[in-house]
Amino acid sequence: MASDLIAQIATAPGEAALAVVRVSGPGAIATVLGIFSPRSGRFAGPRTALVGLLHRLEATEPIDEAVVTCYPVGESYWGVVLVEIGGQGGRVVVGAVVGLLRSLGARPAAPGEFSKRAYVNGRLDLAQAEAVCDLIRSRTRLAARASLRQLQGGVSKPVRQIRDRLLALAASIEVTLDFPDEDIASLDSADLAARAGPILSDLRCMHEGWSVGRRIRDGITVALVGRPNTGKSSLLNALLGVDRAIVTAVPGTTRDTVEEWLDLAGIPVRLVDTAGIRQVPGDEVELLGLARTEDAIKRSDILVAVFDASQSLQPEDVALLGALQDDERPWLACRNKSDLRSALGPLPWAPPLGSVETCALSPEGVQPLRTALANALTSEAADPGEILLTSARHADCVLRALRALERAVDAADSGVTVDLACQDLREAAETLDEILGGSATEDMIDLIFSTFCLGK
Ligand code: GDP
Repeated sequence: MASDLIAQIATAPGEAALAVVRVSGPGAIATVLGIFSPRSGRFAGPRTALVGLLHRLEATEPIDEAVVTCYPVGESYWGVVLVEIGGQGGRVVVGAVVGLLRSLGARPAAPGEFSKRAYVNGRLDLAQAEAVCDLIRSRTRLAARASLRQLQGGVSKPVRQIRDRLLALAASIEVTLDFPDEDIASLDSADLAARAGPILSDLRCMHEGWSVGRRIRDGITVALVGRPNTGKSSLLNALLGVDRAIVTAVPGTTRDTVEEWLDLAGIPVRLVDTAGIRQVPGDEVELLGLARTEDAIKRSDILVAVFDASQSLQPEDVALLGALQDDERPWLACRNKSDLRSALGPLPWAPPLGSVETCALSPEGVQPLRTALANALTSEAADPGEILLTSARHADCVLRALRALERAVDAADSGVTVDLACQDLREAAETLDEILGGSATEDMIDLIFSTFCLGK
């Protein structure tokens, strides 16, 4: 990584009360102090904020009034020299400050360069550095909480502990092999299985949490399906609390899919309103829908089948129910227009996630659907606070470590000498170390940080 001077806006672009420009690298403090006149006194030491005027070297006319905070090496979160210039938000002023710094030799930062420096300098391990990015991108409070916990070592600590237990187990086998004449009791396959058992169950438990952790971070997709005019767009609007999809009494108005994010019980939900599934006259009853509708349905984790409760079951409704019966995904039935006289009658199949009655004309009328979806989403996560893994990369490492440890136990069980199991134990430990960045390759690290924001 280049150790030169960088200057980068760390706040979002556009009009705002404040903007922060970060300057880092050799000469960062001298460069900023060269264009900054403190209102009173001089630079008073690390982590001390000074108010003053920013100006061009040769000009007396100031560019901005700013607060400058200097963090020498050893004093900064990132483990590098860092100066933060807090000035007025707005493109012109911030552009002038950054332009001035660039004219003095600073270059733009690469995405995630500050976080990468913190990782390279040993201030954060890789899982913690990744959490910084996840925290910024969190879509719900629960996702933010999981990321903050990861930043504070909530993933790194248990992973490190399991890695160390694996290494200790491998070492206790190796010592009997290296010093066969010493009076050290050798480990047989039963001992290995006994000591590996608790580690296996910890790894399994960690990996099981991933199915919920994934939902907390990446969200889940819920598609509203049903024939035209049953009220799918109205339900989407009522759940969101805004008029996002077009609602008319003319069947088939929604010709494309409409997607919006919704926070349900702390889990980000991508809600998809699909074009109505229609029957083509003269054809066999079949599910048509537009290509995008079919695609949206395929991408969904949960389906909500919407019926018009004021009408009897139509052939398209029956076709939809048949298709849902053949589908593995969980679905729930929504009997909409409950404010009108009911004519629907019981459904021929019981929906796995139950049935709700809704009236999409008001937010209160869709509360039963909101509650049923929230229950479906959280049923697997009795205590989402326990969930550790929210990253696919971490889950993959844990799974590979699990497989390697299972191989070690199987090898010892099948009569192969335990020393051969050592290799698998070490492989399991190394795989876990990838989560912390220990055995991650340079390419892997570059890829991870390339997804970060500029200035982070
Ligand atoms: P979609 O084609 O399934 O998306 O259906 P829309 O949301 O466009 O609704 C079709 C028509 O039904 C519109 O005139 C809505 O105002 C009406 N509608 C939707 N939900 C309800 C409801 O719960 N009660 C009543 N009375 N009308 C509704």
